[in-house]
Amino acid sequence: LRRNPGETEFHQAVREVFDSLGPVLTKNPQYADAAVLQRICEPERQIIFRVPWVDDSGHVQINRGFRVEFNSALGPYKGGLRFHPSVYLGIIKFLGFEQIFKNSLTGMPIGGGKGGSDFDPRGKSDREIMVFCQSFMTELYRHIGEYTDVPAGDIGVGGREIGYLFGQYKRITNRYESGVLTGKGISWGGSLVRTEATGFGTVFFAQHMLETVNGGFEGKRVVVSGSGNVAIYAMQKAQQLGGHVVACSDSSGYVVDEAGIDVELVRQVKEVERARISEYAERRPSATFVPGGRVWEVGAQVALPCATQNELDEGDARSLIASGLVAVAEGANMPTTPKAIQLLQEAGILFGPGKAANAGGVATSALEMQQNASRDAWSFEHTEERLARIMSDIHDRCATTAETYGQPGNYVAGANIAGFTKVADAMLALGVI
Ligand code: NDP
Repeated sequence: LRRNPGETEFHQAVREVFDSLGPVLTKNPQYADAAVLQRICEPERQIIFRVPWVDDSGHVQINRGFRVEFNSALGPYKGGLRFHPSVYLGIIKFLGFEQIFKNSLTGMPIGGGKGGSDFDPRGKSDREIMVFCQSFMTELYRHIGEYTDVPAGDIGVGGREIGYLFGQYKRITNRYESGVLTGKGISWGGSLVRTEATGFGTVFFAQHMLETVNGGFEGKRVVVSGSGNVAIYAMQKAQQLGGHVVACSDSSGYVVDEAGIDVELVRQVKEVERARISEYAERRPSATFVPGGRVWEVGAQVALPCATQNELDEGDARSLIASGLVAVAEGANMPTTPKAIQLLQEAGILFGPGKAANAGGVATSALEMQQNASRDAWSFEHTEERLARIMSDIHDRCATTAETYGQPGNYVAGANIAGFTKVADAMLALGVI
């Protein structure tokens, strides 16, 4: 705490992992002997840089750029870039820290990192987005590479931004190094299913949890927060599996649609037109827009938080439990507050933490890297099948580890312990570095 003052979200993320590790350290004293805990929460490298750019009215704007290269024991640093005004070092470090264990859980050879900027893409013209991305990459390019650090998207960074970033990387380095970024367009090195992967993967994970108690999504009332990349494809897959999705949101409020959310319309409004979610209710007679409301008050059997950190608190957990909640799977990173997680677990609700439930995105990024390395492109079916198998393996790894450590059904403990031990063993093998 003294070393990282004011980095609230980072403290929260570290505490949440370390809280699970007591039994692991008792069983494996070699981790403490080699100071693995102290080393794992200190990033290997942190880069903070100025991002100057000129807006459409000719004014110079300055933003701050970040890349935190947290841990490379298992492979090159891997993790997304977030463009959002709330970004500061504490957010990037929490995300990078989580990423270490998430990437470990996927079973793929990737380390953990994260980056971004306090740049706000909302309301910016396409030209402004492009020049910002070009300026950002003009510093970032010297720190990344297929074998070093491989960024991807996150909040505010989708296919368009990855395109501008990749274009500038290619221009500066004179290398068509496809494996340097993931989330690329299909015609220039991207992978099918990457766009859908995080949302689909979260639903696959939830389906496996539900199967351990009472069937799957079929006939269940589902509420999703957010209406961005993760939320849209979580809704699509939940519907394909028979779930009845009745609400979603953005930072201005939520829409409730008891006839069932029309995912194509959400996609059109948010992804294509980049408009507010209220626009959905304008065009859909069965829907109502609730400005500034908390989407969880709608009530659900399955809740999928897919927007941002700390968006489901104690009060939300209480109202969800009262409405007949069975399961929560986190599509977003750390969306549920620690108090809310405790309440949900005490009430016997199935709870899939983000580092396991949303790992499908980064796992498919690793599949994109595989395709780039072998100059190959896989079909949608093959790639989705790989994703489904990876999510099933992650689910089983978490469940088995929780059981081994005497906490059956505790996916939080299972994910933290399984994710940690693989990285810790690699760190031991590589010596004190
Ligand atoms: P997007 O930018 O595509 O969408 C984010 C959505 O969340 C938008 O609907 C946005 O609303 C909403 N949102 C953002 N901040 C807030 C807030 N403070 N309050 C309420 N709603 C908010 O991002 P993604 O879908 O890619 O990411 C969502 C979450 O999933 C993040 O936590 C991210 O780290 C995590 N994640 C993403 C992965 C990916 O592959 N994309 C992989 C793993 C995790 P608005 O339009 O109003 O801004």
